[in-house]
Amino acid sequence: MSPNVFKIIFLIGWIAIETIRAPHRKRNRADRHQHRISDNRLNALEFSLALLGFVGMHLLPIIYIFTPWLDFANYQLPDWLALIGILPLAGSVWLLWRSHADLGTNWSPTLEVRQEHKLVTNGVYQHLRHPIYASVWLTGIAQALLLHNWIAGLALLVTFAPIYWLRVPREEKMMLDNFGDEYRTYMNRTGGVIPKFN
Ligand code: SAH
Repeated sequence: MSPNVFKIIFLIGWIAIETIRAPHRKRNRADRHQHRISDNRLNALEFSLALLGFVGMHLLPIIYIFTPWLDFANYQLPDWLALIGILPLAGSVWLLWRSHADLGTNWSPTLEVRQEHKLVTNGVYQHLRHPIYASVWLTGIAQALLLHNWIAGLALLVTFAPIYWLRVPREEKMMLDNFGDEYRTYMNRTGGVIPKFN
């Protein structure tokens, strides 16, 4: 099969992901304008991580899909292995959609707590604390299987690893500072990105 087939499959998933995210990004911008954020932990580190995420998730895949600039780093995968990439891609879209539905207005692109923030422990959050990050890992696996290029294919896995390892402890600290024992109990009975079923 032509690599273009896999590029199109990836692009469909990517558009679904961006469509799920767009209204939440828009609402968060409005919140910020109306000063409804009570605890904002956006610092130089968070900003750099967001930029890194943009490069891995948006910039490099787009360059690979729409220009020949990265073609020197192409690799080949058997069709069956590339097609398996549809599974993590579909899983990622489903999980992102459910997570946003459950998290509602409490979502934010950087680390912040809103004035009327509610701790969400239901829906997919019943089993894992970081379903959105789990969804990004799944997108990263799909990207490596569908975009056959050492730079664009591996870009999300490579850039998201430091984002994940640096961000999660800071996010959990922020949640503990704001929700105390309620979050501590919640942490004890849930998994991070691997669901824990009690
Ligand atoms: N780590 C979560 C959420 C990512 S969005 C996930 O992967 O699904 C990041 C924001 O979500 C944080 O700024 C925090 O304010 C909020 N948040 C994280 N966990 C939450 C929870 N259980 N309930 C409510 N808000 C939460």
